[in-house]
Amino acid sequence: MELYGSSSMATTPVTYSDATVVTMDEAGTEHERGWIRIENGLISDLGPGDPPGPSESLGGAVITPGFVNTHHHLYQTLTRARAQDADLFTWLRTLYPVWARIDDEMLYAAARTGLAELALSGCTTVFDHHYVFPRGVSGLIEAELRAASELGVRIVASRGSMDLGVSDGGLPPDNLVEQIDDVLADTERLAGIADGAMTQIVVAPCSPFSVSTRLMEESAALARRLGLGLHTHLAETVEEEAYCRELFDCTPVEYLERVGWLESDVWCAHCIHLSQPEIERFGAHGVGVAHCPTSNLRLGAGVAPVREYLDANVKVGLGVDGSASNERSDLFFEVKQALLVARGRGGPGAMSAREALQLATRGGARAIGRTDIGSLEPGKRADLAIWRTDGLELGGAADPVGGLVLSGPHRVDRLVVGGNEVVRDGELLGADIAEIAREQRKQAARLWA
Ligand SMILES: [Zn+2]
Repeated sequence: MELYGSSSMATTPVTYSDATVVTMDEAGTEHERGWIRIENGLISDLGPGDPPGPSESLGGAVITPGFVNTHHHLYQTLTRARAQDADLFTWLRTLYPVWARIDDEMLYAAARTGLAELALSGCTTVFDHHYVFPRGVSGLIEAELRAASELGVRIVASRGSMDLGVSDGGLPPDNLVEQIDDVLADTERLAGIADGAMTQIVVAPCSPFSVSTRLMEESAALARRLGLGLHTHLAETVEEEAYCRELFDCTPVEYLERVGWLESDVWCAHCIHLSQPEIERFGAHGVGVAHCPTSNLRLGAGVAPVREYLDANVKVGLGVDGSASNERSDLFFEVKQALLVARGRGGPGAMSAREALQLATRGGARAIGRTDIGSLEPGKRADLAIWRTDGLELGGAADPVGGLVLSGPHRVDRLVVGGNEVVRDGELLGADIAEIAREQRKQAARLWA
C-alpha cells in the first residue's frame, strides 16, 4: 500500500532554463542566467548560460531551493485570532482546554490548510511539532502524513508529548498529559511507518514547563537508539526562564544540558533568551535553532539574537510557528520578517537579503539534520521554488534576488518536490483550495462547538 509516497520518484527528466539559479551551495553560487536539470526526483546537473539539449524557458524567473519550515503546529489553524493580547502562558492556558477536544478529522483539515498555505509560499518540507494527544483519540499523526502525501510535500512530523500536568507543577491541564511509556511506545511505532524521505518522525517533548525531566531524558535515549531527531521549545519568554529557575534552579540551556540534549541531533524553537556564552555553546555542540520572528513579535516574547547565532556558527532555520500565534503560514513572510527584525536589532549590516533566504533553505535543512535538501546541487533532491520576476513589485529592481526578498512575501509560481510539480501558475495541483477552506471551517466549528 502506497500510503506516504515513495522515497525515489521516477519522473520524466526536465530542464528549466533562462532563470536566475540561486543554488545556496557552500560557496553561495548563483547563475544570473542559468539552467537546472532534474532526473528521477534528483538534480542531475545545473550551470550558467544555455543548457545542453532541449529545455523549458522560465522567462527570467528566480529558482531557489524549496523552503524548509523548521517549526509549526498545524493543528492551530483551527484556533486563530484567539487570546489576541495574551502573553505565552496565559495564551496557552486559554487554548489548552480547546485543543484537548481535537480528533483526527480536525487535524487532517487543519494540516491540509497549513500545508497548502506553506506550499504556496515556497515551502517543500514542513516540520510539524504536534504534542496534543487527547485520551482515546488515535490516528492524529497519520492524518498529518496523509494530508502531506496528498498535497505532495515532504513532512517531518513529530510525536510530541506532555506529561507534567498542573497538579505536578506543570502548565497543561491534567487531562492532556500522558504516561511516559505510552508516549515512547507510540513514537517508536510511528517511526516504523516513516520512509525517511517524504516522511520522517522526530521525538519532540513540548517544553521544559510541560514535560518531566524523566521524559526529556528518555526521549533523548529513544531518539538516539532509533536515529531520530530531537526537538522542543526553549527560552521563548522571560517567564519561561523564571519558571525554569524556580523549578530546576538553572537556566533553560543549563537544563537542556542536564537532560542530555546539548547535542547536534537537537534543534529548539525560539531560543530568544540566551546569554552570549550559551549561544556559543549551541554553536560548539551543533544545536540548531528554529527562528520564528512573527510568532515572537505576535506574543511580545522578544527577538532572537540571530546575528549572534550565525556568528557563533549555530545552525539557524525559520519557522512560521502555529497559526494561533502567527495567523499566516507563509514562510516567505518569515524570510522578510527575519531580515527586518535582525536589522531592527542590529542595524543595516545585521542581515543581508541572501542571508535571510539562506535561513529558509540551507539553514533550515541543516537545523533539522537533512543533508539531501536545502540547496541546488547535483545529487540533491529536486525540491525547487520558482519565483516570477515580471510582476509590479520587482520592476526597477537592480538585483532580482535582493528585490525578491525585500519586496516579499510572494506566492510561488511553481513548486517542485522530488521532481514533481506541486504548484503551477501559483495554484496547487493536488488539491482544491476552496474545498480545503470549506472543510477547515467546518472542523473549526466542530472544535469550538
Ligand atoms: Zn511552537
